[in-house]
Amino acid sequence: MSDTLAPTGQVDTTGRDRASTPAPDRPAHDDAITTAKTQLAGAVARLGYDEGLHEMLATPRREINVSIPLRRDDGSTALFHGYRVQHNVSRGPGKGGLRYHPSVDVDEVRALAMWMTWKCAVVELPYGGAKGGVSIDPRQFSQAELERVTRRYTSEIMPMIGPARDIMAPDVGTDARTMAWVMDTYSVNQGYTIPGVVTGKPLEVGGSLGRATATSRGVVHSTRAALREEGLTLADVSVAVQGFGKVGSHAAAMYAEAGARVESVSDQYGGLYREGGIDMVALFEHVARTGSVVGFPEADPLGDQSLLELEVDVVVPAAVEGVLTHDNAPLVRARWVVEGANGPTSARADTILAERGIVVVPDILANAGGVIVSYFEWVQAQQAYWWTEAEIEQRLEERMLHAYDAVADVARREKISMRDAALMLSVRRVAEAHKIRGLYP
Ligand code: GLU
Repeated sequence: MSDTLAPTGQVDTTGRDRASTPAPDRPAHDDAITTAKTQLAGAVARLGYDEGLHEMLATPRREINVSIPLRRDDGSTALFHGYRVQHNVSRGPGKGGLRYHPSVDVDEVRALAMWMTWKCAVVELPYGGAKGGVSIDPRQFSQAELERVTRRYTSEIMPMIGPARDIMAPDVGTDARTMAWVMDTYSVNQGYTIPGVVTGKPLEVGGSLGRATATSRGVVHSTRAALREEGLTLADVSVAVQGFGKVGSHAAAMYAEAGARVESVSDQYGGLYREGGIDMVALFEHVARTGSVVGFPEADPLGDQSLLELEVDVVVPAAVEGVLTHDNAPLVRARWVVEGANGPTSARADTILAERGIVVVPDILANAGGVIVSYFEWVQAQQAYWWTEAEIEQRLEERMLHAYDAVADVARREKISMRDAALMLSVRRVAEAHKIRGLYP
């Protein structure tokens, strides 16, 4: 991949393709960037926009590729590749997470940045969209090593970020601790404390109450809203949650608390199934003790069976992108797919699910709770005045339900899927902001 990299620290404002090759284990047509671009093309066609505007919306505004040398604890050195992509900043500063995962490449980060643009627009946050990533497996490195990687990455992308430029947050493989390192590195270099450069920080340094569980809470709100359209509540349904990390674990607990039967969960090591529902309190204790859902004695192992194909009412992919493809979409038996992850459904799978009458609550709406509370955190940091947890949760619910209703309304009116409706709404908002600002020069 190194031949695709610009020299360290070089800012590429053209956004032109220096694409890496697709991950070898995923066919190109199911790649995140292909999915994102296909979704955009659909929205552009529906909105009747011309090719020039389409090209602008499809291309990152600004991106940076950096190399990150790490001094390992044993004295040796290792080199990693990192990226920060600002897809669009027409509606405000770039906003989006930082991902640490071995499969990160520039195209994946571009796709994730584009989805952030639509996500912020669909829930009406005054942000554009951005994303960062480092191709590293954080499980293989000590905390001290990850701190050095994070600080070096931050100093390499320093000219591009800031509370009014581009605001980072946790994503797959990063957490509040990572954000504290980013915030500290940025602040030390500027000469004073600047909490607004990141969100999802620890409470001790200006984080927001309710941020850690916000994405999951939003996923549950949007599930509830989708069920309500059929006159159902969470107490009426069974649920399967793929991924037991920051999003999936809290979502599973909240579903169970609300009376849903959480019959299946999985993590990267394996899955569980129990008809009638898994005891979440006992499962959390097991995971705290062992680090995985695997081996939990009060449920059966899922074995080779795919969680996504189980006979449950609601399936919640809350791990990584590209898990629902044209191969397994015909096998989904749930009535609702609620996307806790970003980009879990390929464009071809989307068509199949829509044809089969399965309702997909799309990622840019379903998992927007995280960035909504990130926005609250940023607003609180800007005014140095913090809200109560009850205030945060109430405002989060209001925004989620308002956005859900707006998307459902478009879907009904235009007779299109929730995904197409969410994209239509958000792409239009971004395009309108762009048009009103006009082209410079
Ligand atoms: N990484 C999260 C997402 O994909 C949160 C982004 C943020 O809060 O900026 O939505």
